Amino acid sequence: MGDLEHDSTIWTGCRSKKTIHQFIFKALHGTYRISKYWLNIPNYKHCAKCATCHTEIKSLEHILLECPNNAQKTIWKLAQDLWPTKFGTWPRIKLGTILGCGNLHLRKHTPDKQNPNERGNDNNDAKDKTKGTARLLRILISESAYLIWVIRCDSTINEKTYTTNNIIK
Ligand SMILES: [Zn+2]
Repeated sequence: MGDLEHDSTIWTGCRSKKTIHQFIFKALHGTYRISKYWLNIPNYKHCAKCATCHTEIKSLEHILLECPNNAQKTIWKLAQDLWPTKFGTWPRIKLGTILGCGNLHLRKHTPDKQNPNERGNDNNDAKDKTKGTARLLRILISESAYLIWVIRCDSTINEKTYTTNNIIK
């Protein structure tokens, strides 16, 4: 019994987590159909262009982090809002952060000796907190990336438009 077991439960315990895990895995191995792949398929040429900003999609990065018009900004903002600031500043999310989030670890919180509340903190306590924090961060990052992807697929393939309100719900 320990945090390791708990972690694997989070990743594989239920189907939606598994789907997210698969999404990260496929993204990591470049198996998602973006841009160039679509250019070779008649009737699907429009899929090589971003459905929302109409530039050519060169990488997954565009969809997940760079597109000025899709849901990514709203979703990352929501994730950041959910992040308790007491755990530190929300990290700058890069593609590597998303793809590597399954292995994300945080540096151990060093007790602040000036702060009387933290002076007596023993190491185990700080370690547990760091693990929990890393877990929350992994969940927020992977769920957000997956949600952006799902919304993107829906808007590209079904030409559905999402408003900020749709997304928040
Ligand atoms: Zn775009």
